[in-house]
Amino acid sequence: MEGSALFPASPRRMARGRLFFANPGPTNIPDSVLLATARASIDFNDPAFLAVYDACFEGLKRVLKTEQHLFMYTASGHGAWEASLVNVLSPGDLVLIPETGHFSDSWAKMCGTLGFRVKTVPADWRRGVDLALVREALKADTAHDIRAVCCVHNETAAGTRLPIERVRGILDETGHPALLMADTISSLGCYDFRMDEWGVDVCVGGSQKGLMLPTGFSFTAASERALAAHRTSTHPRHYFDWTEMLARRQRSFVGTVPTTLFYGLQEALRLMLEEEGLEAVFARHARLARAVRACVQHWGGNSGPQLFCQNPERWSDSVTAVQMPEGHDAEAVRKIALERYNVSTGGGLAKLAGKVFRIGHLGDLNEPMILGTLASLELALADAGVPHAKGGVQAAMASLSA
Ligand code: PLP
Repeated sequence: MEGSALFPASPRRMARGRLFFANPGPTNIPDSVLLATARASIDFNDPAFLAVYDACFEGLKRVLKTEQHLFMYTASGHGAWEASLVNVLSPGDLVLIPETGHFSDSWAKMCGTLGFRVKTVPADWRRGVDLALVREALKADTAHDIRAVCCVHNETAAGTRLPIERVRGILDETGHPALLMADTISSLGCYDFRMDEWGVDVCVGGSQKGLMLPTGFSFTAASERALAAHRTSTHPRHYFDWTEMLARRQRSFVGTVPTTLFYGLQEALRLMLEEEGLEAVFARHARLARAVRACVQHWGGNSGPQLFCQNPERWSDSVTAVQMPEGHDAEAVRKIALERYNVSTGGGLAKLAGKVFRIGHLGDLNEPMILGTLASLELALADAGVPHAKGGVQAAMASLSA
């Protein structure tokens, strides 16, 4: 069909049936969440809305496993990254960033732009950072110059996880007072995160991944220690200022609250905390992630694609990055999968562009969606002439029925 100036024709082949969306964020939005957001506007100080808001506030803290403070912003994850830094640090402060991949690099770049000094702990993205090097960096800092350790819990670009609880252990063991900051943007609601038990001081999250919502708001959970650091921080800030927020009824949002998203959040929290249960949500993510890895490991059999993450201890339960065999372009496979089979996947970021594609297995997903995605990707590999061992889906099925 021909398009118009306002509604140009879709560049994709029109296909019937659903788009199978296997991106690592944004993610699929459950129908009941979509319907819950179809609300007329309401005053964000209306008591009817405040009841929903307060319930969401407490529900989100249950997902974070915290009883401490929560600040929210109308911004994507980048906003919460920035808010978290400018509220607890002062210009010139030193932060330590264990390298995980594109997202730890981007957070480090943001730190530099905002006027903080950055020390990174370099790592092989395929194996994950060596925690002994994190220990060494903290131990060497006898003057306690490092004010915060910024960790990406789930590196969405590499499909790896960083054991935040072990970083806490290292801080305790070395007696280092730095704040522990965690980016849980692609792990929260997918696999376990325990803010209070793990002694995380600052936790960054966003709406559009494990929480199964549209993109549109992000948040920081802050410990008492983080609030104490906030009181002495001299970094300029306005929209993101926690002091400003604490003076407000909502204790968040300098400006208009995205009310419709809160109706969606209320439903998403009901699904996660009441209908399925958080532990069952984690178990489902783990089960689907194992199936995806079984499939990719099978494909690798005939000089085919491999798991990008070579360290089983660091495998992510939310996203799997698939390393292409030398000389084959990941973008060609993604294009075929999208245009011919209506399956959307994530591309390789930064230095991984063209070298990996990423299968998101987080959020509102079940077995048939994963199996359909993997089967279609196997077709796309064949169409693109990429060597692989056939039968990856059988391996995924075997994993699911084990
Ligand atoms: N951190 C991680 C781990 C991410 O996966 C992303 C986005 O994918 C971000 C930060 C940035 O968040 P946003 O794109 O919502 O600004």
